[in-house]
Amino acid sequence: MLLKDVGIGLRFYAVGNTSSVGVWLTRAHGKLATRMKGHQRATSRLLGQADVFYTCELLFYARETRNVHIMKEVTPLAWRQRLREDWRACALASYLAWLADRSMPFGPAGEGFFALLEEGLDQVANRSAGPATLLRFEARWLALLGAMPEMGRCSRCGRALAAGEDGVPGADGHGLYCRDCAGEVVGAGEGAGSGWAALSGAGRAALAELAEAGLPERAGLPAGVYREVEAVLGRMVAGALELGAPSRERAAALEIVERREGEAGR
Ligand SMILES: [Zn+2]
Repeated sequence: MLLKDVGIGLRFYAVGNTSSVGVWLTRAHGKLATRMKGHQRATSRLLGQADVFYTCELLFYARETRNVHIMKEVTPLAWRQRLREDWRACALASYLAWLADRSMPFGPAGEGFFALLEEGLDQVANRSAGPATLLRFEARWLALLGAMPEMGRCSRCGRALAAGEDGVPGADGHGLYCRDCAGEVVGAGEGAGSGWAALSGAGRAALAELAEAGLPERAGLPAGVYREVEAVLGRMVAGALELGAPSRERAAALEIVERREGEAGR
């Protein structure tokens, strides 16, 4: 069956001598892979038409029994050229694409993933991405994955947390607990002495706002709140993706946006 969709290139790899496989997050079919015959040949009509961070119109033969479909035609709709010329922007975009790829299985995706990735890459390509952009992307992505706990109540006893009350995020990256429950939950608040501690009321409010779809991006967060939220999101990403250790891709992207922010502030 010949299908048409719009996809964002997440990852490409060579197959055999001349073919390549592209992994895409598409608008209608979720995450899928297409084999592009002859893509690596200098004379290929597919050459330069498909790459990471591109948004492309895809025309492919769907093979129901396999994960890899056959690309017939691919037409770039947005190149995001700056992501190829500026290594910092590239590293940041790479993290967004990595997070999308790593967190989603092949197959249909829920509503919102494609639009969020498209928006995130556009922001990076348009130089408007700062540290808060990255955190907002993560918070909203985790919310779409269903991995963002409610910030207003305890994940265990369900009690609503008062404004300004601390919540204790699970050390495994899942859940947010009241002080009473935190002690009962294995791993919650573990390692508080090493800088891992409760999330303040201001931190909870900021994270809830970042995770909410449809809100305009606010200018930066206060430094203390930023630190809290950044640390909690790091745990949540590692928890949602079942990483054994904090993501190196994330650390690299954060270092870049934070350094840029510092330069702009001088
Ligand atoms: Zn509780």
